[in-house]
Amino acid sequence: MSLEFTLSSPEPSTTAAEDKVHDVVIIGSGPAGFAAALYTSRAHLDTIVITGHELGGQVAATWEVDNYPGFPDGVTGPELVEKMQKHAERFGARFEMDQITAIDLSKRPFTLTGNVGTYAAKAVIVATGASPRKLNVPGEKELTGRGVSYCATCDGYFFQDKEIAVVGGGDSALEEALFLTRYAQVTIIHRRDELRAGPTMQKRARENEKIRFVWDSVVEEIIGDTAVRAVRLRNVKTGELSDLTVDGAFIVIGHPPNTQLFAGQLEMDQRGYLETDRRMRSNVQGVWVAGEAGDPDFRQVITSAGMGAAAAIEAQRWLAGQE
Ligand SMILES: Cc1cc2nc3c(=O)[nH]c(=O)nc-3n(C[C@H](O)[C@H](O)[C@H](O)COP(=O)(O)OP(=O)(O)OC[C@H]3O[C@@H](n4cnc5c(N)ncnc54)[C@H](O)[C@@H]3O)c2cc1C
Repeated sequence: MSLEFTLSSPEPSTTAAEDKVHDVVIIGSGPAGFAAALYTSRAHLDTIVITGHELGGQVAATWEVDNYPGFPDGVTGPELVEKMQKHAERFGARFEMDQITAIDLSKRPFTLTGNVGTYAAKAVIVATGASPRKLNVPGEKELTGRGVSYCATCDGYFFQDKEIAVVGGGDSALEEALFLTRYAQVTIIHRRDELRAGPTMQKRARENEKIRFVWDSVVEEIIGDTAVRAVRLRNVKTGELSDLTVDGAFIVIGHPPNTQLFAGQLEMDQRGYLETDRRMRSNVQGVWVAGEAGDPDFRQVITSAGMGAAAAIEAQRWLAGQE
């Protein structure tokens, strides 16, 4: 994370009624948003979390989280989300089921407009996360968490000595495939006859004896009942259909951050990840970024929650300095 931008400091405005201005508005109810809400509300800051369409964020969709400390036997995504929400609510954080559609960060208090309401905030923590791109084929949704995965670090461990398909041909797909060879035999399915990934990554993948390739093929369906059993492939050149027997299907075809809302106001890189410094500050004073909205590198519950806590501590210190 770098801070290669000029910090902008919006002028305070006198237009918004002070009694309607929240200390902190957190956009997003994933691990980053929950952790931020826990810290700001526990610091006695008036905190509102705007949940977005996906209460709990990405982790709400997973069956087993096996790598979050404090849960030695693992925990389901929905249970972890429920506990995180309750924890923040215990200290007074309030959750609004709304989706922010417009934001004005040019003057303070900041104004956020949602489908349901409008919110004014002294400080904003952006925790809008990212969304793995889906194949949108039959079986994908039903078998997510039952063999369909979007994260090798999260789920690779569950596939010891199994057969896995990795769908994709970019650097991320190859990186995930290489990581998965710690546990399993991997077949990379790619829709073209050459990879998009850089030469070094390609060389490593091609030289790895636990990786094989199926070229010119797209996934038409993911087959299974309580677990993935196979992927149905269509050769794009011949039209031929075939079933590849696998225990898991990792979809790695992109993972864009949910940051379009901030275009023109917050600095972002070419992929749309928001820029921050090591204190989670954005280029606008009073606005912090936590979790996957600004993190292309780690993409875990614990790292996102950690960034949420850090952003909240910073917001609390900054607000104290404003008084
Ligand atoms: C299927 C799956 C399984 C996973 N399993 C694991 C695992 O086992 N272990 C692990 O460590 N990690 C796992 N991950 C990764 C982990 O879920 C993410 O790293 C983490 O959820 C990121 O947290 P976040 O708070 O940054 O964002 P997200 O979880 O992406 O949450 C973003 C939040 O922002 C909200 N939002 C977005 N736009 C708006 C808007 N305009 N207005 C209001 N709200 C908005 C969304 O509704 C959502 O609540 C998994 C991911 C997936 C997809």
